[in-house]
Amino acid sequence: MPAGQTPLQQTLRERSGHLWIANEYVASSGQRTAVVNPATDETIGEFAHATPAEIDAAVAVANRAQRDWWAMSALDRANAMHQIADRMLAITRTTGECLTREMGKPFRESNWEGGASASAFRYYAEIARNEQGRIAGPAIAGQLHMVMKEPLGTIVSIVPFNFPMLLFGWQAAAALAAGNAIIVKPSELTSLTLLTLMEAFDHLPPGLVQVVTGGAEVGQRLVAHEHTHGIAFTGSVPAAQAVARAASERFKPALIEASGNDPFIVMPSAPLDAVARGAAFAAFLNCGQVCTSAERFYVHTDIYDQFVAALTEQAKALRIGNGLDAVDIGPMASHRERDRVERIVARAVEQGAIVRTGGRRPPHVTTGAFYEPTVLEVQANFDIMHGECFGPLAPVCRVRDLDEAIALANASDLGLGANIYTENLAEAFRAVNEIESGIVWVNTPLNDNDAIPFGGRKFTGAGRELGAEGLDQFRRSKMVMIAPTAQSDPEWFPYPDGDAFNA
Ligand code: NAD
Repeated sequence: MPAGQTPLQQTLRERSGHLWIANEYVASSGQRTAVVNPATDETIGEFAHATPAEIDAAVAVANRAQRDWWAMSALDRANAMHQIADRMLAITRTTGECLTREMGKPFRESNWEGGASASAFRYYAEIARNEQGRIAGPAIAGQLHMVMKEPLGTIVSIVPFNFPMLLFGWQAAAALAAGNAIIVKPSELTSLTLLTLMEAFDHLPPGLVQVVTGGAEVGQRLVAHEHTHGIAFTGSVPAAQAVARAASERFKPALIEASGNDPFIVMPSAPLDAVARGAAFAAFLNCGQVCTSAERFYVHTDIYDQFVAALTEQAKALRIGNGLDAVDIGPMASHRERDRVERIVARAVEQGAIVRTGGRRPPHVTTGAFYEPTVLEVQANFDIMHGECFGPLAPVCRVRDLDEAIALANASDLGLGANIYTENLAEAFRAVNEIESGIVWVNTPLNDNDAIPFGGRKFTGAGRELGAEGLDQFRRSKMVMIAPTAQSDPEWFPYPDGDAFNA
């Protein structure tokens, strides 16, 4: 091992340019792209762009593995899935270090992610063996009429960079539990992490879970492939639209989880200290690269000034640096992402935004894609309030009352999550009932629960992950009718003459 390298860094070099096919790391013959640590700008490895032949081979293996998997008992599948969870938990330090080196988030968050992903495998291991359909009251006496739930076949999972292990876990756990195979196409920014995670999957039938790396073209080929059967996509709206279009050509069911632009409403009854801390967490977690980040703050005029001051204090106190050190905020995932955020801030300032803190690269850091947590005072019509920022930005807008806050919250093409801070029950009820989103959090920002469906509406997408709903994304119904004996039916030919129109 070269001097100064950790065992993981050595492993990443060895896995560079590989795919995970049929439970083995296989060198790809496709082109390679450097993987750069966004905290240090060092190249830590490469990911391969899988070739069409490699994709075809992965799909063929997946379909064979799926048949073996579905032939097992539900109990054996559940046990294998608990083993996945055990094994994922055993390697969270490794996968966490890998994720931090690859996309920058603080190690605490990377380490947490492995465990949270494992939790989804535990949950689905159990609910999948709970039921596999239902029996209906028969329409014909004495018969058995039922709906059986079957797997779709091979699922293509396309995941983004911000929570690669968690989002893969949500999709893979449900897909496997429903009896499918899955091929995951990671983000270009986090391929090595998902390859490393596969150490927890090699007890499964070879090819049941595979990692095929590459860019959009690899994702498109997998989606359009004649022998893949369902799609689970998480990412931006334009990519989601391209995926949904390709999936629709073959009528493949497609779970679409695209962008968010979540509102965060603050009412006077909420205790300011807790709100400011919750707001900072919701806006700056993972450098704001969370689909459910608080992206638009609508704050009641009575507490607006105090809130802006308190949030600014919180933002200034955050420690920025390499995610392997004791920090709260790492870099953004890439220089391209930081450039994009810089353009959003420049435009907001051009429109009259007041920068309370941040709005720049941290002066003390000379490498990496760092950007300071930023609090801005804005007007509701500024561009920054009408698109996803996906960066460490907290634009705050004054509102006169809850009516205005809810109206502004709903003035968006996106509808993933929404937050309200209030201790007034009537206000909480109104937010829950009136905000047009897939999720509403009252005083508990950004949390989730394996047992409750997660997803959005409007341009955020269609379908749900997690919960029983998440399992059904990856199953189809089969109508089954059974007569106990083969007897002729009085409804058959010949029809009685007396039933004729002119009889
Ligand atoms: P992205 O759309 O750039 O990429 C996501 C994935 O899609 C990557 O693997 C990418 O290679 C692939 N891809 C891109 N174009 C494609 C195409 N035409 N065909 C097939 N695959 C294609 O997104 P990103 O920058 O990695 O992630 C950030 C976005 O993800 C944000 O918009 C965020 O809100 C969204 N996101 C949504 C959720 C959710 O649950 N709704 C969760 C996390 C992230």
